[in-house]
Amino acid sequence: MNDSATTWEQRWHPLREEWVVVAAHRQDRPWQGERATASPPPAPDYVESCYFCPRNQRVGGARNPDYTSVFVFDNDHPCVGADAPQSLERPPGIYRNASATGVARVVCYTPTHNLTLAELPVQSIAELLRTWRDQYVELGARPDVRHVLTFENKGEVVGVSNPHPHGQIYATNFVFKTIETEAAASRRYRQEHGRPLFQDIIRSERDDRRRILFESASTIVFLPYFARYAYECYVAPRETHASLATMTPEEIHDLAVGLKLLLVRYDNLWRMSFPYVLTLHQAPTDGDDYSGFHFHIECHPPLRKPNLLKYLAGPEVGGGNFLSDTRPESKAEELRAVSDVHYKSPHA
Ligand SMILES: [Zn+2]
Ligand SMILES: [Zn+2]
Repeated sequence: MNDSATTWEQRWHPLREEWVVVAAHRQDRPWQGERATASPPPAPDYVESCYFCPRNQRVGGARNPDYTSVFVFDNDHPCVGADAPQSLERPPGIYRNASATGVARVVCYTPTHNLTLAELPVQSIAELLRTWRDQYVELGARPDVRHVLTFENKGEVVGVSNPHPHGQIYATNFVFKTIETEAAASRRYRQEHGRPLFQDIIRSERDDRRRILFESASTIVFLPYFARYAYECYVAPRETHASLATMTPEEIHDLAVGLKLLLVRYDNLWRMSFPYVLTLHQAPTDGDDYSGFHFHIECHPPLRKPNLLKYLAGPEVGGGNFLSDTRPESKAEELRAVSDVHYKSPHA
């Protein structure tokens, strides 16, 4: 096992079936004790002009109820929806188009404007997971929906202007590309090896142990060997479930524990609200067999250092493969070293 401080090699990403170039031989050092320079002034727990706070009027004219826990509503600016034009002009030549039907929803995690998912109690995160599950089941059952993408964009660096804790759901008439890729890889692996691909990823991580952040009877949290982003982490049930729909209440509770632990450690790393893109990778709902698909949550933080973004450039945008300047083992070590108690908590 190579445990030197530098790594310069290509690593195979088995879910995406592509190479990740790890070129951490130049500047990789554990990055600890660093803090973001500017933290925004603390926001109040209710903001009159916020579209997501309870009782407020939204852009579309509807008024939010006086909700007390998770609140789901149809997005007022949907990118896919029932109102999308149905009769389209056919494009010339080889080009194709289709109606952008589907459902776009917003999920507010809590009525409290100034909290984040990391700061919510485990019970509230478990309730959110149950809401995500119910949305997946309800929307996935629609004949026009082939896939349900559940995600949260967090932080201004990933384009979120309203800090009220919320995520989004896109239920679409097509399967998102990454899920399609992972589903195909998982299917092929199962045919060739007779086992779910993700089970062998978990086994490989458990054999190594250096990149595991948390493990309980039913949940595992790790920074994968093949991470494309410096602090990219996965939260997954240890048993293979194609989606949240088949998980037991205990497994969902354990998953909430693991997810909170990860998000708290992200925030504690530099004592800042850590930006990320969090995505649920659940099986498509198009009626195919996805028994080898293993549901997991992927977190992609865009930062490499407190004030340094990972820029997507030639290799990523132009070529389609990731070049990483950091060594997954070092980044996992940093996350393993920080406290499980949120720095804003009175017990910290
Ligand atoms: Zn709000
Ligand atoms: Zn995935």
